[in-house]
Amino acid sequence: IEKTAQMHIEPASDEMVDVVDSKAVMHRTLLEQPLRVVGSEGLYLHLENGQKFLDATGGPAVACLGHNNPIVKKAIMDQLDKVAYVGTVFYSTSAAEELCSLLVRGTNGAMSRAFICNSGSEAAEAAMKMARQYFVELEGPATKRHRFISRKQSYHGTTLGALALGGHVMRRKIYEPMLSPGISRVSPCYAYRGKTEGESDEAYVTRLAEELDAEFERVGPESVCAFVAEPVVGAALGCVPSVPGYFAAMRRVCDKHGALLIADEVMSGMGRTGYLHAWQSPLVNTAPDLQMIGKGLSGGYQPVAALLVSPKVVNVLTKGTGAFSHGQTYQAHAIGCAAAAAVQKIIMEPNMMEHVRKMGAALEKGLRERLADKWYIGDIRGAGLFRGIEFVMRKDDKTPFEISRQVASGVHKLGMQEPYLISLYPGIGTVEGLAGDFVLLAPPYTVTL
Ligand code: PLP
Repeated sequence: IEKTAQMHIEPASDEMVDVVDSKAVMHRTLLEQPLRVVGSEGLYLHLENGQKFLDATGGPAVACLGHNNPIVKKAIMDQLDKVAYVGTVFYSTSAAEELCSLLVRGTNGAMSRAFICNSGSEAAEAAMKMARQYFVELEGPATKRHRFISRKQSYHGTTLGALALGGHVMRRKIYEPMLSPGISRVSPCYAYRGKTEGESDEAYVTRLAEELDAEFERVGPESVCAFVAEPVVGAALGCVPSVPGYFAAMRRVCDKHGALLIADEVMSGMGRTGYLHAWQSPLVNTAPDLQMIGKGLSGGYQPVAALLVSPKVVNVLTKGTGAFSHGQTYQAHAIGCAAAAAVQKIIMEPNMMEHVRKMGAALEKGLRERLADKWYIGDIRGAGLFRGIEFVMRKDDKTPFEISRQVASGVHKLGMQEPYLISLYPGIGTVEGLAGDFVLLAPPYTVTL
């Protein structure tokens, strides 16, 4: 200790600090340099080369309040003045408590606790572990429940548990031997490609419910922890809302087999669809047992995600070990919680959700008027300010047109309406089986006409 105290550490020289090697970053691609953003304001990103981008997607549906919001920045600074970080074994912060209270209150009693983590993938891991723990405590350690059923066209995150849950072939490919075999998948609710000709919504839902029921029977209902699905499918299919009655039907199948229903609202949640939670929209209208949220939770001001937990699960854990067997160094991080609480207070302001629905309807109308007739447009869909445009080679047979990446990078290069360029989010494509190619639009909730 004495030696360490006496040790003199050379301060980094100015020269070292000045050396910025853009290639030092492990970007998504090692071959190309992404555009460098040097500033931002509201809807716009400012690039180093002087260009200004209308950020029409806020990254992957993240920046729900746009950029550089003074209220959120102040909340971060105020929290920094109090405390930036506390270890959660012994300590809590008012920022964490305020955020979790807001989140629980927004569910009108459907959820009673929030576990705050740093990414959607971590929320997925927490959901899987909590579901398993629920059954260990409910049925005893000998419980057979360890399996999950998700959907073929799905993405739930990039860590090994979350990756195993999703059906993203390209992202899974080289890790396949490391992924849990305890996960199987059924068809998603994807009316544009999944519904047969002349089939009613009701008949389609019945068919999908029967498929899920058959999957429970195939793998053994006593072995399944939960069915996991997105109420509005984001990156895997391109803003695909479920047809009316779908979630209620899935809930009934889960209840029949004593399994939990987990909603992944990492992309579609926190106001994106014009309802605070996508499951609260009239289309879905079915509360899950566990709910993953992220992205719009903090609007990108800090890396924050969460698992919302229903009283049904909380009660079992409380009566059992009284703890969630899962902990992370940065869980409920004070700065993250302060940023997310500030974002949520703005989102929860009266009329905000109504505004999102109104702007969403205007966006859909504009897209339809300008694009619906084009030969390469298969479908325009979504909910609230969460819209997808699916490209096809031919409208009649819906042959997917693999063009989304070129479209998204093309608008960067060509520009749509100088001096403003627009950024789009391309489909992450390669999911198992039936799927198309699309771009997403997810502008901030603060947009106006
Ligand atoms: N779930 C869904 C529906 C997502 O869209 C994503 C990310 O795109 C995730 C989970 C994973 O979230 P993250 O990238 O924050 O780990």
